[in-house]
Amino acid sequence: MHPYPFAYRRASTVNEALAFLASEEEPKLLAGGQSLLPVMKLRLAQPGTLIDISEIADLRGVRLDGDTLVIGALTTHHDLETDPLIAKHAPLLAEAARVVGDQQVRNRGTIGGVLAHADPAADYPAGVLALEATVAATSPDGEREIPVTEFFQGFMTSALAENELLTSIRIPILDVTRGMSYQKLANPASGYAIVGVGAVVTLAANGSVGSLKLSLTGVGDVAYRATAAEEALAGQQPTAEAVKEAASHAVEGVEPLDDLHAPAAYRAKVACNLARRAIMTALERA
Ligand SMILES: Cc1cc2nc3c(=O)[nH]c(=O)nc-3n(C[C@H](O)[C@H](O)[C@H](O)COP(=O)(O)OP(=O)(O)OC[C@H]3O[C@@H](n4cnc5c(N)ncnc54)[C@H](O)[C@@H]3O)c2cc1C
Repeated sequence: MHPYPFAYRRASTVNEALAFLASEEEPKLLAGGQSLLPVMKLRLAQPGTLIDISEIADLRGVRLDGDTLVIGALTTHHDLETDPLIAKHAPLLAEAARVVGDQQVRNRGTIGGVLAHADPAADYPAGVLALEATVAATSPDGEREIPVTEFFQGFMTSALAENELLTSIRIPILDVTRGMSYQKLANPASGYAIVGVGAVVTLAANGSVGSLKLSLTGVGDVAYRATAAEEALAGQQPTAEAVKEAASHAVEGVEPLDDLHAPAAYRAKVACNLARRAIMTALERA
């Protein structure tokens, strides 16, 4: 299907993009176009003007700023898969990037686009939640940082205001050895997560689990941290039984989605199994 007619503007700086957002009729930012163009073609979205930000060089790439890993919003899935700083400090994101859609989607799609789109079956929400990231957003009023725990507000709904542009994702680099893993059961047709689980663990000096950050995507209508599972494992010796017990809490307090891709009971079972696998793998890597 063809989209409704729209105007097109290309921004070469963040300020230019913000100015277009303020002046154009029913504007919408265009990054990789891998989610926006399909919904426009289905006529589920009808923006008046597309503001193409894909050429804003400042928004692409990964760098260190002191003890923070800064990922530009336009960094593509392929960039994340292959970037040495990501491999060193946040390999969980490279692991997630590797299983996003197909090669074309990974070459065009961006991490900023994924987070702004807030699809409950997208992969990175689980990654950035487990890594305790913040999201930087800029508007004519200035910049603000939003903890990811407050960023995903509901089905396809983020904390971004209409006049805001997501500029970067910031991940604290901690001075501790961490093991991390991302595990996913993909929809065989689209590649999206039926369930995706991110786990980040630290070990204490006596070999017990210092901390666990466990986050899930695809299960509910918004990605979440499984705090009951995290609390169940913290301070325990990392035995297979303790991990299985903790993982059994992965969907506590959440109503799993029940749709044509997977019934709720199946989703819940897969979530607990993938949580166990993600925690075990993270422990092996810690
Ligand atoms: C066949 C197919 C398979 C896919 N499989 C997966 C998968 O397995 N896992 C997965 O996670 N995703 C998957 N995706 C989605 C893909 O990851 C997209 O790249 C992503 O959802 C959107 O990123 P984008 O850069 O393409 O954003 P766009 O499509 O350009 O934009 C998406 C939305 O975000 C807004 N936006 C974009 N950038 C910004 C910004 N910097 N600031 C504020 N708002 C912004 C846009 O206005 C729009 O509303 C798939 C897509 C396709 C087509």
